[in-house]
Amino acid sequence: MKVVIVGNGPGGVELAKQLSEEHEVTIVERETVPYYTKPMLSHYVAGLAEEKSLFPYPIDWYEKKGIRLLLGTNAKRIDSEKKILETDRGNFEYDVLVLATGAKPRALKIPGWERMYTLRTIKDAKRLKEAVEREKDLLIIGGGFIGLEIAGNLSKRGIKVRVVEKMTRLMGLDEELTERIKGELEKHGVEFYLGRDVERIENDVLVTDKEEIPARVILCSIGIVPEVSLAKESGLDVNKGILVDKTFRTSKPDIYAIGDCAEHEGIICGTAKAAMAHAKVLANTLKGIPDEYDFHFRSSYFKFGDFPIAIVGELTDRGEWIDSETKSFYRDEKIVGVVVLSDVRKAREWEERLRSTR
Ligand code: FAD
Repeated sequence: MKVVIVGNGPGGVELAKQLSEEHEVTIVERETVPYYTKPMLSHYVAGLAEEKSLFPYPIDWYEKKGIRLLLGTNAKRIDSEKKILETDRGNFEYDVLVLATGAKPRALKIPGWERMYTLRTIKDAKRLKEAVEREKDLLIIGGGFIGLEIAGNLSKRGIKVRVVEKMTRLMGLDEELTERIKGELEKHGVEFYLGRDVERIENDVLVTDKEEIPARVILCSIGIVPEVSLAKESGLDVNKGILVDKTFRTSKPDIYAIGDCAEHEGIICGTAKAAMAHAKVLANTLKGIPDEYDFHFRSSYFKFGDFPIAIVGELTDRGEWIDSETKSFYRDEKIVGVVVLSDVRKAREWEERLRSTR
């Protein structure tokens, strides 16, 4: 079977790994470098990781696995009747086509926005690293997990970091958890400005509805926009992401979507861990092994500098601390989710337990 995958991120690469022994696998990727781990980008920007450590699979790894990798190739349109993927470097026939096109950073078009940096690709990371090393100062707009990872790693290296967030809470967590995360990062000198509306950038300041904050280098990290242009152009059903069922089938036959570009019942997972899990479920389906992905069960593990945090299962309005590091969340007297701080090994045990009782 000819499997063509668009996108060489964790979703696309994991799927290729799973299928390459049995099938003819081609990856089409518009970037010109092999796979790199995006969760390590902030370590690289902070000078905590060498560039080469971001690249676990050199070109000859793909060759050994029998995966055809077409770098610098932009997929432009799908002819789903003829089962052909059209790219700027020729057309490719497929039996199964998988869109693993990921996402791009959400933009914030306030006056002065052109001065903002974003962090999604290795190219972005190089630009940001240069600016941060020059100015020793970073203002991050957005208190989501990517913003907090960057804040944690850069502050560890003595860079002055400020985080500005529209909501009064971080990562959509509750007040107590927000305070714990904030407290850990404040120990490294990170300053938080929560509940602020950002208005404009002027010279070296960010103007909010409450004050002017010094800002020589500004990173916009307010979320992602799924990359759906190829799917849309080709007539697939799209909302924010490409609409899929629990087995990642799109609205067109033999076309699947996984990772950050896929949406199911309004959920876009947005993590590398989920993208890889999607790939495993899809690989099973394509091998004829019944499987489906539980989009409603969250499982995310992050590290903000030296501070690990795991979010597992469903977070409801009723939370209680079980011990000083674990907060559990209840639905009808049953624990349906936990947030574990520091010792994330405990979270893995919780994950097994919560999954088995769903
Ligand atoms: P992507 O990794 O975005 O890959 C999609 C690929 O498709 C891209 O290379 C793109 O160039 C290519 N593509 C798109 N359209 C086309 C086209 N038309 N033609 C050809 N190629 C195309 N996740 C975690 O789980 N834990 C973390 O700690 C974590 N930290 C992160 C830190 C940072 C700084 C960033 C940016 C992300 C982080 N993430 C983390 C999120 C994680 O990296 C993403 O969720 C993950 O990369 C999504 O994988 P994907 O395969 O869906 O898409």
